[in-house]
Amino acid sequence: MSYRAGRHFLQIPGPTNVPDRVLRAVDRAVIDHRGPEFAKLGAAVLEGLKAIFKTSGPVVIYPASGTGAWEAALVNTLSPGDKVLMFETGHFAALWRQLAERLSLTVDFIPGDWRHGVPAVQLEARLAEDKRHEIKAVCCVHNETSTGVTSDIPAVRQAMDAAHHPALLLVDTVSSLASMDYRHDEWGVDVTVAGSQKGLMLPPGLSFNAISGKALTASQSAALPRSYWRWDEMLSPNQSGFFPYTPATNLLYGLREALAILQEEGLENIFARHTAHARATRSAVRAWGLDILCVNPAEYSSSLTAVVMPGGHDADAFRRIVLDRFDMSLGAGLGKLKGSVFRIGHLGSFNDLMLAGTLSGVEMGLALAGVPYCRGGVQAALDSLCNLKTADEVKVA
Ligand code: PLP
Repeated sequence: MSYRAGRHFLQIPGPTNVPDRVLRAVDRAVIDHRGPEFAKLGAAVLEGLKAIFKTSGPVVIYPASGTGAWEAALVNTLSPGDKVLMFETGHFAALWRQLAERLSLTVDFIPGDWRHGVPAVQLEARLAEDKRHEIKAVCCVHNETSTGVTSDIPAVRQAMDAAHHPALLLVDTVSSLASMDYRHDEWGVDVTVAGSQKGLMLPPGLSFNAISGKALTASQSAALPRSYWRWDEMLSPNQSGFFPYTPATNLLYGLREALAILQEEGLENIFARHTAHARATRSAVRAWGLDILCVNPAEYSSSLTAVVMPGGHDADAFRRIVLDRFDMSLGAGLGKLKGSVFRIGHLGSFNDLMLAGTLSGVEMGLALAGVPYCRGGVQAALDSLCNLKTADEVKVA
């Protein structure tokens, strides 16, 4: 069967479903990236992004995936051999660590069980021991896409302040920005790393660094080799809406439209929607009698839910059945979770009925794969959705 009727369900935790409005916006003639029309586009998206990161400082845009923005955050602020503190919260934290080590940074990697977020108490203790301030940066993944566990960034900031430590705070928001509450300035973050393909509802291909004044100052003396990722060469043409090299023009058209959509819905409503979908998904998982990988309810992700497969059952075989029978992609278990976990993405351009369809596909897939489960997960999710209100309704009530 080569033709599959209806829409594919892309329920991995990013890339996410791209709204038709964004697809239409991308589908336009390329313009001269040194011309006046481009300057207006560049200026609009560079300014518009500030409201999403909640910063008054600059945000730079790279024609790169999130990994590029990880590298940019490090090479612009640090020097060879610098010590950085990272936390083993999951697969993406491990990849960022690998990148840092390849850049000749010395990583103090606090071990974790991939079921919890950054331990703020342990962080404070580690920083308090570092009397000579050898640690130059603390790097956290706000939302671990491999585990569905979030980290409390204000608590991290508080721990750093309590230890009176001057390290920079670098935060990865690749799968949380524009899906979950995030505040670059208020939370005292120095570099925020993000990507286009999740909460921003764009195709993959853009990534971002939001930069604090302290990070900008650090970049002046940072000595790691860098060329493509240089903030200074980016920030100067950005002032008039231009880029130092050929930008991803059509993705910027898409970004302008995505920013308009985010503004129309309103960040608070977007966060409430994600919270509601995450809660409904967890209701389904519990009703099925399956385990949620995230242990601490205070750390549940609103972007995705990672579900533990019952022992003796292969999550990848289950996902294959769901793809073949229902044309739905679910997230694989990554790294050491391969085969033992599957992930349900519920972020980006997504609504109640899409969630109902997604969870129906999961429930039917469990039956077809012979996984032991209890019926009624979808019903539990529907009940959860019916009882929830939007942020606007809550304000009115
Ligand atoms: N950080 C997190 C939390 C991610 O989820 C991802 C990718 O999914 C990355 C970093 C790496 O981004 P990319 O794959 O766009 O390079």
